[in-house]
Amino acid sequence: MSKYDQEIEELELHKYTWCLHCEIVHETVKWIENKHECPKCKASLFKDGWGWEDTESGQHGNVFTTVNGYPKTPIEGKEYPLYPK
Ligand SMILES: [Zn+2]
Repeated sequence: MSKYDQEIEELELHKYTWCLHCEIVHETVKWIENKHECPKCKASLFKDGWGWEDTESGQHGNVFTTVNGYPKTPIEGKEYPLYPK
C-alpha cells in the first residue's frame, strides 16, 4: 500500500474524485500527488473534489452513479457533467 493509499483510507476518500470546476474525474491518488489539487485545473481536493461513489447519506448523495447513471468505475480524464444534457 502506498502512502497515498493510506491517506485516502484515513480521510475516507474515494478511489475516484470528480472536480466541481472542470467536471473531470481523476484517481484520487493523482489529486494527492498534485498537492491536493485537481490535476487538470488545480481546484482544491477538499473544497471542490467530490467522491465518485458517495452514498445517499454522503455529502453530495450518489448523484453520479445513481442519479446520472454513470458507471461505477469512471473513465479517467473524461468529463462527466453534473447535469447531463
Ligand atoms: Zn478540475
